[in-house]
Amino acid sequence: MSITEILNKVGPSTLRPFENPQGPQAQGSGTLTHEEIKLLLAAEGDDKKLLFDKALQTKLAHLDNYVHLRGLIEYSNICTKYCLYCGVRCKNLKVDRYQLSDEEVIEWR
Ligand code: SF4
Repeated sequence: MSITEILNKVGPSTLRPFENPQGPQAQGSGTLTHEEIKLLLAAEGDDKKLLFDKALQTKLAHLDNYVHLRGLIEYSNICTKYCLYCGVRCKNLKVDRYQLSDEEVIEWR
């Protein structure tokens, strides 16, 4: 399968695979297979340009020509959960815990 054929499959459902009631692995409706995704990620030269052009078309269709920035304020590192990958999980007693006051959040620019 060529890069062009793969890119022609790409549609809105590919952008939001978890909204597809059949799940992200479902075929059709623009959903890509793992093999197709691997081919796209390995694209070089003209194929890479096609991929980037498709990405730009998709961005312009859904987000217009803007850069969207998001930021977060780490308000606190106090947590009652125990996610194994997380350094601030509740049972890590070596972490210095903090919580910002409302005033500190407002001042933090
Ligand atoms: S343990 Fe870490 S990742 Fe899990 S909920 Fe708490 S802060 Fe979030």
